[in-house]
Amino acid sequence: MEKWIYKIDNLELNNSDNLLNETIFHNANGYLGIRGCFEEGYPKGYETIRGTYINGIYNISEMKQAEQLYGFINEKQTIVNVADTQGIQLLIGDERFHLFEGSIINYSRSLDMKNGYTIREIIWKSPKGKIVQIRIKRMASFVEKNLFTVEYEVKSINFKGLLTWISTHIGKVQNYSNQEDPRVAKGAVKHLEPKKVVTEGDASYIISETTTSGLKVCSAVRNICSDKKNSTVWREKTGIFEKIEIDIQKEETVSLKKYTVLTDSLRETDCLSNAEVIMNRVTRAGLTEMYRLQKIYLDDFWNRAVLEIDGNEELNLAIKYNLFQLLQSVGKDEYCSVAAKGLSGEGYEGHYFWDAEIYIFPFFVLTYPHIARNLLEYRYRILDQAKENAKILGHTKGALYPWRTIAGKECSGYFLSGSAQYHINSDIAYAVIQYYLATKDLDLIVHKGLEILLETARLWVDTGHYYQDQFHIMSVTGPDEYTCMVNDNYFTNVSAKYHLKWAARLYRVLKETGKIDKLIRKIDLTENEILEFEQASEKMYLPYSEELGINPQDTDFLSKPVWDFKKTPKENYPLLLHYHPLYLNRFQVCKQADTVLAYFLYEDMQSREVMRTSFEYYEKITTHDSSLSTCIFSIVASKLGLLEKAVEYMGDSIYLDLHNTHKNTKDGIHTANMGGIYMAIVYGLAGLGIKEDGIYLSPLLPKTWNGYKFKIVYEGYELEIEVNEVCRLTCKEEVNIPVYLYGERYSLNNNLVLEKKNEI
Ligand code: BGC
Repeated sequence: MEKWIYKIDNLELNNSDNLLNETIFHNANGYLGIRGCFEEGYPKGYETIRGTYINGIYNISEMKQAEQLYGFINEKQTIVNVADTQGIQLLIGDERFHLFEGSIINYSRSLDMKNGYTIREIIWKSPKGKIVQIRIKRMASFVEKNLFTVEYEVKSINFKGLLTWISTHIGKVQNYSNQEDPRVAKGAVKHLEPKKVVTEGDASYIISETTTSGLKVCSAVRNICSDKKNSTVWREKTGIFEKIEIDIQKEETVSLKKYTVLTDSLRETDCLSNAEVIMNRVTRAGLTEMYRLQKIYLDDFWNRAVLEIDGNEELNLAIKYNLFQLLQSVGKDEYCSVAAKGLSGEGYEGHYFWDAEIYIFPFFVLTYPHIARNLLEYRYRILDQAKENAKILGHTKGALYPWRTIAGKECSGYFLSGSAQYHINSDIAYAVIQYYLATKDLDLIVHKGLEILLETARLWVDTGHYYQDQFHIMSVTGPDEYTCMVNDNYFTNVSAKYHLKWAARLYRVLKETGKIDKLIRKIDLTENEILEFEQASEKMYLPYSEELGINPQDTDFLSKPVWDFKKTPKENYPLLLHYHPLYLNRFQVCKQADTVLAYFLYEDMQSREVMRTSFEYYEKITTHDSSLSTCIFSIVASKLGLLEKAVEYMGDSIYLDLHNTHKNTKDGIHTANMGGIYMAIVYGLAGLGIKEDGIYLSPLLPKTWNGYKFKIVYEGYELEIEVNEVCRLTCKEEVNIPVYLYGERYSLNNNLVLEKKNEI
């Protein structure tokens, strides 16, 4: 098995595998994403989600509400499918290459994660008996974020003659829709209007505008083929086509290089001239150079993102696949974040959720802190809109981040499991605090982070109230979307408690320095408000059942009947596709980790015993219908020393997309789960915790593993942690970092080796 190449051999052609592999082998770089569709297209009867996306580029469409009550949203943002530049037809003599005709001798697809490209390889025999070997290499450049390339190689096995490529650049595209699935968009699918089609030298440009959001996108294409005999270009109203003819000899290999550059008006004012400049630069440098730079970028990535299981190559490859997808998906500037499906599909309409801060952020804060910083900058950019959102929901102060959005406005039409998830505020706050703890980058905190913390903390004070001397938060929805609109959701309350405490704490520390005087004036903050934060935090009510020794998910949770799992047929999962939400709401049944997630994030706020009893309780009633669940159960199982369970849950997460276990990977990868896999090993098995007084670790080693290692960046220092018979912490620089290993304090200088003692 190749260590860096995820490959599927002897592929078959069927609708569902084709769609799935469009996702699995998509190319993206955080700015643009292209689904791995066939260049030559599909015949009638085969479905495709042919998509190219730019992170942050959206259109606005109507959100119809059956009853327009006050404050209900009536429009939503949707990621836009932009110009299709994937198309390349191949003609061998007068026969058109198509996998669905002639015969396939071999067909494979692979993703090379060391070099950063995908390859589709086919040996194909035409109906008239001509055999060709085709190798199509595609890359979304990490170095030139606007660039996507296709290198199309053809080798003749048994003939000589004319070969023709028709390379297409199509401006008339639309988004995918599905009436049946609530996780995919319905309705209006045409979001982009091609406005101008131009050719400049041998490059073509299409400038398109979104129909309602006022954004522009420019797509540019240049085809380069050194041995071409003839080239004809023709233009239609919304597309440009180039026909390239070439004579091929028997056993000769010829190739076409197709460069695509995408630019947008969100980031640059003149996207056409910007596309021209970039196109000229990248084609002058050439593809070999682009591949070289890609490799250098990825060498650095893999050097930072070390996460290896000793001696288990199959698992390592799957883990690498997941980490690579995180890099492909994450936005790398302040205009965007990381969508639930990354840039691999249109599931959830390209929206950003709490997935970004709670599931994906931790990976970047420990490997690429500057990317983590970008994610926070994006949240800062939309803070004013979060304040507007709070007003819509009746608050007089503070900010409430939208549950799902692209550019900052709430896009959740179903408020019960959308806007009511107020925990989004403390999730974002959690990321700000984690960023501070792992980097101690006060600059970001002073200029942006603290403002986020304070404005979102204000919302808790405005939302909750005191009753019998305790602070309660009513009518919210926690992470578990099968239980909506509850009072005192444990997760929400504990996260607000932590959030309020930290908002006040960072305020007090920074106030002393005089660095936040401007901020205090800007947001009109009073000392009294800080006291209110501290008091609410201290008096926060956390539901607890004496009888069962667990934390109920909310005040009423335990008084509901438990869902009848025995009588639920297998095919009725996920329940959300088979039962009305109101019906689900009446039972103890969880879509995903809720209280259990709180035990991971806020482990110091509960005793181990209660955590364990609760974990066992929630295990029985959680369906894991959400992909955000098993990874969290794995982490908490590790924390409780339930090693076998931890490994089992982790396995479910690791193969979720590769084995399409949720049966919807065709709509895009599950980025939160991918971040969760990283956390399941680093935070779960290794027991990492970044706290105020240093780094915490309590590594466990599953029986079936020889060992594992990973690297993290802490306060700018690179640390390597290796776990086998011993636990070895290494830092190449002279440092003095407090490390708590199984609770005992040590100081990491540059090489700390400790005997591993399994505490459980
Ligand atoms: C989950 C949410 C998640 C969203 C996007 C839903 O199914 O319940 O927690 O944020 O998917 O991944």
